[in-house]
Amino acid sequence: ESRVERVASLIRDVPDFPSPGVMFKDITPLLSNPIGFQAAITELVTSAPRPIDTVVGMEARGFIFAAPVALALGAGFVPVRKPGKLPGDTVSASYELEYGENTLSIHRDAVRPGARVMVVDDVLATGGTIGATAALVRELGAEVAQVSVVMELSFLSGRDRLAELGIDNYSALV
Ligand code: IMP
Repeated sequence: ESRVERVASLIRDVPDFPSPGVMFKDITPLLSNPIGFQAAITELVTSAPRPIDTVVGMEARGFIFAAPVALALGAGFVPVRKPGKLPGDTVSASYELEYGENTLSIHRDAVRPGARVMVVDDVLATGGTIGATAALVRELGAEVAQVSVVMELSFLSGRDRLAELGIDNYSALV
């Protein structure tokens, strides 16, 4: 069994969560399996072009994967959070949801201009979350050198949305 096959086998389908008709991809079996979790981190680290200065992870499940990837790369970890959570000076970006909109924030001084940034999240769905995060990184004058996720929901075409935003270094493990 390859590392990627092991990761795939530990992601559980939960029908009708959080609402009827939605098939939720549950990564908690992956996290609770030390060999699987390590395999996911190893594969995410392998997907990174070097050097990477900063790994950005999004609240909340993105944190779980982004922080160990940062340590393995010898890079810093920077959180992207929902509004009102970060205490310092922030910049924010909003994106459309099916119903309403979402806003994400980052500390203005967290990423230096010119830094090579890797964005890590658990799941790519429509690409709204990663698109907004890439906009924040770019607003700080840094480069989105890589976007890597554990799992892509390919029927939602998030990959195409990222390509439209000029993100051409993208990889999904599953
Ligand atoms: P997007 O912004 O539509 O690409 O949605 C991606 C975000 O929603 C990620 O931060 C995920 O954590 C979360 N998400 C969407 N669908 C799922 C799922 O099936 N399982 C786990 N997280 C999901």
